[in-house]
Amino acid sequence: MSEIERSAGTIRKLPDRLVNQIAAGEVIERPASAVKELVENSLDAGADRISVAIRDGGRALIAVTDNGGGMTPEEMQLAVERHATSKLPDDDLTFISTLGFRGEALPSIGSVSRLSIESRPPGADTTQRLEVEGGKLNAPRPVAGSEGTRIEVRDLFYATPARLKFLRSPRAESSAVAEVLNRLAMAHPGVSFSLEDEGRQKFSYSAAQGELLGRRLDRLGQIMGREFRDNALAVNAEREDFRLTGYAGVPTLNRGNAAMQFLFVNGRPVRDKQLVGAVRAAYQDFLARDRHPMLALFLECEPRAVDVNVHPAKAEVRFREPGTMRGLIVGALKHALAEAGHKASTTVSAAALGAMRPDGQYGTGLPSGAARQAPLYAYRPDMPQRPSTGLSAAAYAFQGPDGVAAPAYPDSSGAGFAPAARAEQPPGADEETLGFPLGAARAQLHATYVVAQTEDGIVIVDQHAAHERLVLERMKRQMAEGSVARQGLLLPEIV
Ligand code: ADP
Ligand code: MG
Repeated sequence: MSEIERSAGTIRKLPDRLVNQIAAGEVIERPASAVKELVENSLDAGADRISVAIRDGGRALIAVTDNGGGMTPEEMQLAVERHATSKLPDDDLTFISTLGFRGEALPSIGSVSRLSIESRPPGADTTQRLEVEGGKLNAPRPVAGSEGTRIEVRDLFYATPARLKFLRSPRAESSAVAEVLNRLAMAHPGVSFSLEDEGRQKFSYSAAQGELLGRRLDRLGQIMGREFRDNALAVNAEREDFRLTGYAGVPTLNRGNAAMQFLFVNGRPVRDKQLVGAVRAAYQDFLARDRHPMLALFLECEPRAVDVNVHPAKAEVRFREPGTMRGLIVGALKHALAEAGHKASTTVSAAALGAMRPDGQYGTGLPSGAARQAPLYAYRPDMPQRPSTGLSAAAYAFQGPDGVAAPAYPDSSGAGFAPAARAEQPPGADEETLGFPLGAARAQLHATYVVAQTEDGIVIVDQHAAHERLVLERMKRQMAEGSVARQGLLLPEIV
């Protein structure tokens, strides 16, 4: 008999505690996963105020307090049992309208930590406290407390030291917690969320008022940044029974990775490779391959059209018709981008304009109201003293009262530029041409860059890249109409 066969022993059913610890291995991978499960429970319980506190990256303590529907002492005892849930009333796994449904989170957490649940349903006159330590529970007892539920998880993974070893630094774990909470907060703008880390408040989002879309944009701005808020295009599309809403950043607001791309399906944050692919397809004409736009998309559909029971952590979903989904996302994004035209993000243009202000001040933030409206260097007879130094002076010269003409750009017709100003025409007289997507061409630098003036900004175009783009657009149009003009080579070229 080999060593392996002997050590395998006889077959037996594992004790509950071990079963729960094994499940915990999948469901509760790190403190952030415990936070996710607990906060999802609070949302399922109808809470509109959820606060989370952690210590030591969640290892020493995770406390989640909500004002939701609460549990009676009997419900509390059931809740920590494996596969006990209040969320599948009809035993129908194809129709899941809550975030939870597996009945695994609380028993899993309870088997690897010291867990306490304090809860009081509305109208009940006492708060009851239940404690679970390494899978063993004590009978509930009354304590002081308010309506709703407070769950505390102490010494996570103390019962499974192997997992403890795989945790990263408290800082890394705490930022994972913040990320999980942020994702849930994005999907639920009507709920207030706060996170406290080592006694210090990391963030607090109050429940936004008003209609859903505006509320959502407010919340997204709080989380993804004001820059996103100011540069987001509304997305709104429907196909069959799917409805896609949300916000997509303009192409110039891009990042080096896809970390700022969020997808939610029926209020559930999900990771979906297809989304990344669909986003890439939609933005491919606007962005370099290694740049990624920022966006948050919310998909609503019949619970039956999507399978959420794919992964224990419920972070993935499967669509019954993945093709429809992809088409919907690509179509909606392309539509939003086409509507926005050439809109550039305010920060990019503000910083560029700030660098050229006559007073030499470098702009850092967003342009002031006046700066947004007035063309910076448009000629006005009452122009104050012209700047005499540096970049400002050079820029001024192109627009200046001396009437320095911009060289004509041979291929600019149809490129979005207005025809270049002619020398005899006083600069500034072609105000209406400033409205062209790429403005009025004013100068050419190093035989490579075209500098153009728009109504409220400056556009610098790499003319070779622009030319390539024009050729590409022409070929795309020809493809759409039939075929691209082509000609066979007399001698084949090997590529
Ligand atoms: P699931 O969420 O999949 O049902 P859990 O183990 O996360 O499984 O929770 C078990 C049950 O405990 C839930 O179905 C719910 O009835 C109850 N519960 C858990 N957390 C809360 C809470 N914060 N407020 C009210 N009830 C809760
Ligand atoms: Mg749950």
